[in-house]
Amino acid sequence: MVQFLAIAPSKLINHLDCKIVMLKFGSINTNKKSSDKPKAEGESEKVRVLILGSGPAGYTAAIYAARANLKPVMYMGLQAGGQLTTTTEVDNFPGYPEGVTGPKMMEDLQKQAERFGTEVRWGLATSVEFNKEGGAHKVWIDEEKIIEAETVVIATGATAQYLGLESEEKFKGSGVSACATCDGFFYRGQDVAVVGGGDTAAEEATYLAGICNKVYLIIRKPIMRASKAMQDRVARTKNIEVLYEHNTKEIIGGQTVEGAILTNSKGEEKKIDITGFFVAIGHKPNSEIFKDYLDTDETGYLNTIPGTTKTNIPGVFACGDIQDKHYRQAITAAGSGCMAALDSEKYLGERY
Ligand code: FAD
Repeated sequence: MVQFLAIAPSKLINHLDCKIVMLKFGSINTNKKSSDKPKAEGESEKVRVLILGSGPAGYTAAIYAARANLKPVMYMGLQAGGQLTTTTEVDNFPGYPEGVTGPKMMEDLQKQAERFGTEVRWGLATSVEFNKEGGAHKVWIDEEKIIEAETVVIATGATAQYLGLESEEKFKGSGVSACATCDGFFYRGQDVAVVGGGDTAAEEATYLAGICNKVYLIIRKPIMRASKAMQDRVARTKNIEVLYEHNTKEIIGGQTVEGAILTNSKGEEKKIDITGFFVAIGHKPNSEIFKDYLDTDETGYLNTIPGTTKTNIPGVFACGDIQDKHYRQAITAAGSGCMAALDSEKYLGERY
């Protein structure tokens, strides 16, 4: 059952589900690398298609694989339903003319995947032993159960990074967001702030500048890390005000965000009046346990062969945000989930 705890114009957090999951898996370290053994030789099970992750990518892969009679088994990880369970309105997923809440959409996707025979299970992949020649790939679930999979579809997503302020936590889903493309529309005509000095922050600021009245770009350092081209775009955009050498002390408001208190390098405080606070300080791809086997870029996103979901290991496929640091949308994640299932099906047909 989905329950919301806060009221917000746009987004809310599904605290109940988070709590249940944390109770169940509270002590497991998700950032372990595969080489951080020990791996218990526990109970083992053979499956054709193993899907790791229950976001839009994982569920779409599951729907396609199940309809191809591949009897997929999915492990949901710590965040059942993925990132969209931290949001209320999803207005940009095709097929929902009135919009849909993130938790409801994920519930629907789960039902659809189960209707065709996907086995959806609680559990977290804690280490892997991929077979470089293809063949059975071993995946440890919750550090004990072993799955031997002919194909593995990795859909473990990426986690948005936040500043770590208490007030930021309070307003997540009611004015604080980590996705301008997703939530910017809810702040049209209003004043907002973006935090971060890299390309993503510069992009989010210019995107929001096209929708909002005014955008403050809050940068900790005296310079912007973003590329020269992005810096020029920011400089050309009249309704962006860059606040260099500023840190966010606190986000303020009642039920929703009404402002932020910033401090500069001299320790002076400044209050800005905003209704939206967008954090753009990066995402952390959930790829740690695969790094001994799979090629990644310098920030940990899994590399796939362009135009496919194939990784450098035969029979291991990656889809969704774990291999896409550019688009990061539910629909693109779902699209690549479909590709991963079709790539798996083709691989199995050719190999077995
Ligand atoms: P995720 O949704 O990130 O799911 C990853 C899954 O992997 C989770 O289920 C997790 O538990 C699981 N997992 C992680 N590690 C393991 C492991 N070791 N073993 C097993 N499972 C594991 N997009 C839109 O299109 N529209 C929106 O309105 C929108 N709003 C957003 C609002 C917010 C606040 C945020 C943060 C994002 C929003 N997005 C939106 C972006 C969208 O949520 C993501 O692009 C999308 O969810 C990515 O899907 P995914 O399946 O790749 O991964």
